[in-house]
Amino acid sequence: MNKVNFLDLKRQFDSIKIEINNKIQEVLDNSRFILGKDVEEFEDNFAKFCDKKFCIGISSGTEALKLAIKALELKEGEIIIPANTFVATALAISENNLKPVLVDVDKETYNIDINKIEKEITEKTVAIMPVHLYGQTCDMDPIIEIANKYNLKIIEDCCQAHGAEYKGKTVPITDIGCFSFYPGKNLGAYGDAGAIVTNNEKLFKKIKSLRNYGSEKKYHHDIKGFNNRMDNLQAAILNIKLKKLNEWNKNRINNAELYNGLLKETVNIPKIDKNSNSVYHLYVIRTKKREELQKYLNEKEIFTGIHYPIPIHLLKAYSDLGYKEGDFPITEKYSKEILSLPMFAELTEKEIKYVCKNIKEFFN
Ligand SMILES: *Cc1c(COP(=O)(O)O)cnc(C)c1O
Repeated sequence: MNKVNFLDLKRQFDSIKIEINNKIQEVLDNSRFILGKDVEEFEDNFAKFCDKKFCIGISSGTEALKLAIKALELKEGEIIIPANTFVATALAISENNLKPVLVDVDKETYNIDINKIEKEITEKTVAIMPVHLYGQTCDMDPIIEIANKYNLKIIEDCCQAHGAEYKGKTVPITDIGCFSFYPGKNLGAYGDAGAIVTNNEKLFKKIKSLRNYGSEKKYHHDIKGFNNRMDNLQAAILNIKLKKLNEWNKNRINNAELYNGLLKETVNIPKIDKNSNSVYHLYVIRTKKREELQKYLNEKEIFTGIHYPIPIHLLKAYSDLGYKEGDFPITEKYSKEILSLPMFAELTEKEIKYVCKNIKEFFN
């Protein structure tokens, strides 16, 4: 075996190359670039995939989160997020001039700890933004209960959870869910793209207008909007890839099960809550020897990632939040122990066995 990439987008492209190339040619021949029929088709298809009434194609996952906050008219205050997430979750909040308030993660699932949310709620809290991290859904029922009790909005960050299920329902399970189609996500475009899905027609109309300069009818602007449209070429590509997503997610789950069986005695393997069907955007193990293991694997040309090495509250950009080291002990401890192994739909059984063999050799 030569090397095992953390992610190999080329392998996937090769499997759909002809269809993609033909489609790109068709879009160029018709010169349909902005809000064309491909975007409309994708919106219909992705709404169906998520079992929702509406979808709005957006320019990226970050922008989707940003527009969700705008659409809910959250103009000031605090939004609760997990301490372990990608920085974009927090950025969407600060860009709207609201304050992200962090909550430590659960020891088992690495998702927001539902038992620590309530003590962070103040008069200023306006929303909770749960993140379905690594493809595993958060424990949504208690989050919904808390939100109802304190009259808070919920925005689900589904950027790593395309097709993930909570109690048999595809996320988002509340009013508004935001997705990213960054190339490395379970459903990835060939550039930046994102989407918002909802069952709420009022929100749907508002977001549709917000993403397109605040207009429903050309040159009529009732609100001040933005340019946050999904690119038509990306939509055309995503329409082709969406047809494969269930199969690709299934492959990821099979890969995870293979890893689990081979590694359960050696490292901490992911623990998936009984209410969640994870789509394994990432396969994250945990070990105190993380640095040495990563270096060892690197030398064998087995490439891994860390999601995420620096928690939000210790990032320089967020020093203004006033947090300090020690504020979120689980997140901080795990940030030094987690390691994301190669994970993508086209990863082979042979590659997984090779990765696991090397991990076992390292520990022996
Ligand atoms: C990828 C990601 C985002 C941002 O999506 P972009 O399309 O890259 O802007 C937000 N939140 C989480 C959890 C993500 O993984």
